[in-house]
Amino acid sequence: EAPGTTARTWAEIDLAALRANVGALRSRLTGGAALMAVVKADAYGHGMVPCARAARAAGAEWLGTATPQEALALRAAGVDGRVLCWLWTPGGPWREAIEADVDVTVSGMWALREVTAAARAAGRPARVQLKADTGLGRNGCQPHDWPELVAAARAAERDGLLRVTGVWSHFACADEPGHPSIAAQLTAFRQALATAEAAGLDPEVRHIANSPATLTLPESHFDLVRTGVSMYGISPVPQLAGPAEYGLRPVMTLLANVASVKRVPGGHGVSYGHLYTTPGQTTLALIPAGYADGIPRHASGTGPVLVAGKWRTVAGRVAMDQFVVDLGGDTARTGERAVLFGPGDRGEPTAEDWARAAGTIAYEIVTRIGPRVPRVHL
Ligand code: PLP
Repeated sequence: EAPGTTARTWAEIDLAALRANVGALRSRLTGGAALMAVVKADAYGHGMVPCARAARAAGAEWLGTATPQEALALRAAGVDGRVLCWLWTPGGPWREAIEADVDVTVSGMWALREVTAAARAAGRPARVQLKADTGLGRNGCQPHDWPELVAAARAAERDGLLRVTGVWSHFACADEPGHPSIAAQLTAFRQALATAEAAGLDPEVRHIANSPATLTLPESHFDLVRTGVSMYGISPVPQLAGPAEYGLRPVMTLLANVASVKRVPGGHGVSYGHLYTTPGQTTLALIPAGYADGIPRHASGTGPVLVAGKWRTVAGRVAMDQFVVDLGGDTARTGERAVLFGPGDRGEPTAEDWARAAGTIAYEIVTRIGPRVPRVHL
């Protein structure tokens, strides 16, 4: 039986929208840049393998994951083509990645030592992308260590242990267009590229742009952009424009079947801590989705949901598996559909609305929808 008929709560994933979003993003790329579909974290909660396949079908030349395990899971599912992963820890599955033709990211000498050892053991060269820290202050090689890293990578390339396929970096503040760090990072990135090229490296792809840079800063496109949240139809710069203004459509719709509807008298406390008390006789509906499903507890008293044709607000606390809404003078049927969020054009709230209600970003809202919630790929 299809989830949705009797399911408690479920997420519909509109793969046609995802494909259209990839097309819309590709149409904005400058200078022949390619697109990497970022599918880490289970495709931001949308289901990694179906989303990877849909992005590929829509022309994404690259797939990007954080962990090597995610990249290997793509291969295990039969997804081929270029895949880059970037978040390594010592002792990671370098050899498996080399043997699976995954491009791996190296940010420092320890990683270069591990990947060259793995390439020796595998008897074939690794495809390595070097990551520079141009100002994010997170992962990536600092400028003072960069000449040593590129020289060592070039030496390993000469020894046939690896091929440097890319040089890349990541922005800190691309979602704040005009932030002075953006220009500084572009300058630092160009310097890192010049140093790499002077050392004899000839990378296939140079890349720094994430979604906000892809949408707001064409000069950051270089050879490749790495788009995540925009591909899922969420604006990375909600303070400037919604997704529709970029030709994007939200991909995830989160639904639940109303689990109970009941009349209660005024003065009735609702949910843990009784943060909400009914102002008079009213009708309460139980929405069977809670923080174990990724509904933020911070949205207690604020989260919106479409029930019986109107936006309602979470009454009192979001619990682990459920929350309550006060329908006031309206009523609803047990089993009728409630829409927590979706594209927003059928009267429902969006993930962005939940982000505002919870004091976070829409990235977190979709990514945290939990494994107990079935994904229905349309
Ligand atoms: N590149 C890297 C290295 C990332 O970690 C991420 C995600 O945070 C992205 C690209 C995609 O970012 P966005 O979802 O803003 O497109």
